[in-house]
Amino acid sequence: MNDSTKQVATVGHWINGEAATGAGGVQARTQPVYDPATGRATKQVSLADKATVESAIAAAQAAYPAWRNTPPIKRARVMSKLKTLLEEHADEIAALITSENGKVLADAHGELQRGIENVEYASYATELLKGEHSRNVGPGIDSWSEFQALGVVAGITPFNFPVMVPLWMWPMAVVCGNTFVLKPSERTPSSTLRIAQLALEAGLPPGVLNVVNGDKEAVDTLLTDPRVKAASFVGSTPIAEYIYTTGCANGKRVQALGGAKNFAVVMPDADIPNAVSALMGAAYGSCGERCMAIPLVACIGDATADAVIAGLSAEIAKMKVGPGNDNGNDMGPLVTKPHFEKVRSFIEAGEKEGAKLVVDGRNVKVAGHEEGYYLGPCLFDNVKPGMSIYQNEIFGPVLGIIRAKTLQEAMDMIDAHEYGNGTCVFTRDGEAARYFTDHIQVGMVGVNVPLPVPVAYHSFGGWKRSLFGDLHAYGPDGVRFYTKRKTITQRWPSAGVREGAVFSFPSSR
Ligand code: NAD
Repeated sequence: MNDSTKQVATVGHWINGEAATGAGGVQARTQPVYDPATGRATKQVSLADKATVESAIAAAQAAYPAWRNTPPIKRARVMSKLKTLLEEHADEIAALITSENGKVLADAHGELQRGIENVEYASYATELLKGEHSRNVGPGIDSWSEFQALGVVAGITPFNFPVMVPLWMWPMAVVCGNTFVLKPSERTPSSTLRIAQLALEAGLPPGVLNVVNGDKEAVDTLLTDPRVKAASFVGSTPIAEYIYTTGCANGKRVQALGGAKNFAVVMPDADIPNAVSALMGAAYGSCGERCMAIPLVACIGDATADAVIAGLSAEIAKMKVGPGNDNGNDMGPLVTKPHFEKVRSFIEAGEKEGAKLVVDGRNVKVAGHEEGYYLGPCLFDNVKPGMSIYQNEIFGPVLGIIRAKTLQEAMDMIDAHEYGNGTCVFTRDGEAARYFTDHIQVGMVGVNVPLPVPVAYHSFGGWKRSLFGDLHAYGPDGVRFYTKRKTITQRWPSAGVREGAVFSFPSSR
């Protein structure tokens, strides 16, 4: 235990409908949780050992038979009630997000609202689980497909959306009849736990949703336990790949969403002031800690690049950086000190590699919060393939301008990059926009929309090394991921139509 955390509260787990400290009790491993605005450790989080995770899996397994057989309309009603409770507790939940993640409160409310929309979509379970039916596929034979639950399902989530990403997963999984064990980020554990309490209040039976805080030990237990039938993961690409290969090798269905390096393209005919406003939010919102953030902008032609840089520089000068719980601020701190240092090291590398640092945010000072992890918005010009700030996901408020000659050149760069999460084009030319959306090798594409995050009734997912697996997250793909199709073919022979043995393959010829 870190000295500075000795007197602070411990965030535990949520197992079988109640708070749990973990099988290791007071001996359990813990880790400090920091307030990024002040740099102070405000809590410590229990890191679940194997036995604790196994007790959560056992609770989920025990709850499964009754929950699987609960009519979907009753499962769905829990989601309707949860939506109301989340709305009623929005300020409290947003404050918890900000206190551990650092993002400004308005942004925390935004992520909660997006999460609530997933709960709302899950409340349509009766429609989503109707299945498909065909009468008379043969004489007197009917056939139908139904979507059955998998059993115990696990979710492993990142720090940057501690509320929204878990709500992408477990509400859909449980309305489909599964039970769930969630392992949130150990850096931002509290808001997720609070929502688990609200789910119980909404009528979710104990054991249907369990939350274990922890690290690799907890994750590896979930990935290797045969009672866990599927795992959804969202986080960085190296871990996503590990989760996918380990989970699959252990016979599980896995979807693992990874990191990103999203490009915007600004065409010479774009509405530049509008593109600049859009890019400001997309690059610096949430301190750049979004998998759909825009860290690279390919400007077509030098005149476009010069106009975009002038516009961005003027807007950056107006931005306010400070604690996320002060509504006057546009951007809060980065999440942790190691991450803060990593982002700063990318800025140094960018300068050494020859990119031009037009705006340097490293000198930002927030009075009274000298130990907070603040970094002002940074803007690079002349970013080129091969530079570390081009190749890597920085996950900070660092925007790079690439000078490209043609749309095709920009598209070739995007397609050659290892990631393919999101992208967008700013243009007034419908033909160019259609060519871009049709051909670009990226999973989520915007036209004059900088963050094309699909709404809850579509599905979210990138291409290339931004997603391992076949199905995207939430929406219609979420229903498919959390269910197994079973197809039943049925005949009730009457005395008049009894047939003898048939040895040829049945067909309707
Ligand atoms: P991370 O990969 O470090 O952690 C994600 C989860 O994996 C956490 O719960 C963590 O405890 C666990 N984990 C970490 N190391 C592990 C290991 N060695 N073995 C097993 N489990 C491990 O990601 P992060 O820093 O929390 O989140 C930021 C990353 O998430 C960024 O790369 C971002 O792009 C990505 N992200 C992607 C999406 C998406 O939809 N594609 C959405 C949000 C965030």
